[in-house]
Formats: sequence, structure tokens, C-alpha cells
Amino acid sequence: MNNDLNVLIQLGDVDYRLKEIEDLKGDLPQMVESQKSLIRELKSENDEKNIHLGEIEQGLTEKRHTLDDTKTKLDKYKKQLYLVTTNKEYDALLTEIDHSKEILSTTQSSLNELNSSKDVISEKLKENTIKLDETDISLKKCEEELQEALNESEEEFKSLENKRLGLEKKVDNRYLSLYNRMRGGRRGVGITTVHKNACGSCYNILPPQTVIEIRKGDKIITCHTCGIILFWENED
Ligand SMILES: [Zn+2]
Repeated sequence: MNNDLNVLIQLGDVDYRLKEIEDLKGDLPQMVESQKSLIRELKSENDEKNIHLGEIEQGLTEKRHTLDDTKTKLDKYKKQLYLVTTNKEYDALLTEIDHSKEILSTTQSSLNELNSSKDVISEKLKENTIKLDETDISLKKCEEELQEALNESEEEFKSLENKRLGLEKKVDNRYLSLYNRMRGGRRGVGITTVHKNACGSCYNILPPQTVIEIRKGDKIITCHTCGIILFWENED
């Protein structure tokens, strides 16, 4: 048999097993990744919300001061009303009193607005924190499962990868890159057998002459439809 073909067949076996091991991990790697990214999102959202909350607290303190100051002034003006001697002074005080009352009313409504924003943000923070805790637990579980799957096959995986490196050196670069290109493609396979005179990958029927040449096995032959390298597997 052609040496390149022989090596490529071995490479195909190694890659088949590597793929099986990879499949054992199932969708755990993706789950781990998506949970990690959800945790990052929630944390950054919570950071923003905490900053916003700090600003609101500051605003609330300012508004409370304004309320206190204004109430003190208002009391003072009301007391002064009994002490004034002229109408002009009396009118001036009434204007001040009206003005203070207006300040009290607008300050109180901004205080209320700030308080309700604070409630909304605090509620969202609480929700996010619960979600964060849940995701954290689920992430740890996925990571453990993944680690277990890796532990079981780690040695075999390493030895297969070493074998793969050795095989790659033994095959003509032209065929190796053809093989690797096909393997990197949609079907993830670089070499396959002929089955019932059809390509084992795309199932297109091969011309009889091609089948004869593949059976001989003395050169690299690819499927005329999908481009995969083909070989003949002896039934015995
Ligand atoms: Zn094909």
C-alpha cells in the first residue's frame, strides 16, 4: 500500500478517537463559557447599579439637608411675623414664607422620586445577586463534571496527540494539508472508506474506475464530489 495512504489511515483512526473523547465533554465547555460570561455581565451590571445607588444616597442626603434648612427658616419667618411693625416688612416675610414652602414641596417630591429609584435599583440588585449565586453554583458543578470527563481520558488524549504528531511527520505535506483541510471542514473528517461503491462521507456513487484504483491503494485518491481522501477497507 502507498505509504502516505497508510499513514493517513492511521491518522484517521487517531482523529476518530480524539473526536470521541472530545464528544465525551458534550456541551459542558460551552455551558461553562456561557455561565462565566453571564457572571461577568451580572457583576458589571451590579457594579454600575451600586455606583448609581451611591449617587442617589448622596442626592438624598442633600435633599434632606435642604428640607431641614428650609423648615428651620420657615419657623423663623413665622415667628418673625409677630414681631414686624410695618406692612412692607410683613409682605416681605410672607413672600419669603411662600418661597420656602415652594422649596419644601419641590424638595419633597424629588426626595420621593429618588427614594423610588432607590427601591427599583435595590430590587434589581437583589435579583441579580440571587441569579449570581445560582449561576456560581451551577458553574462549579459544570466545571467539576468537565474536569472529571477530562481526568478519565486525559492520558489517552495525550498519548493520541503524541501519536498524531509522529504520524504527521511521516506523511507528505501536500496530503497532510489536504487531510487537515477536510478535517477542519463541516464533517470534521479527513479520510473515509468506500461503502457500497459510494463515498463514505458525501455518499455520492464513485465511478467504477475510481473504485478499482482505490482498492489497489497505491496512490492517494479523493472523492470527486466532496474532496475527502478515500481508502478501501478490507472486510476480512
Ligand atoms: Zn465524497
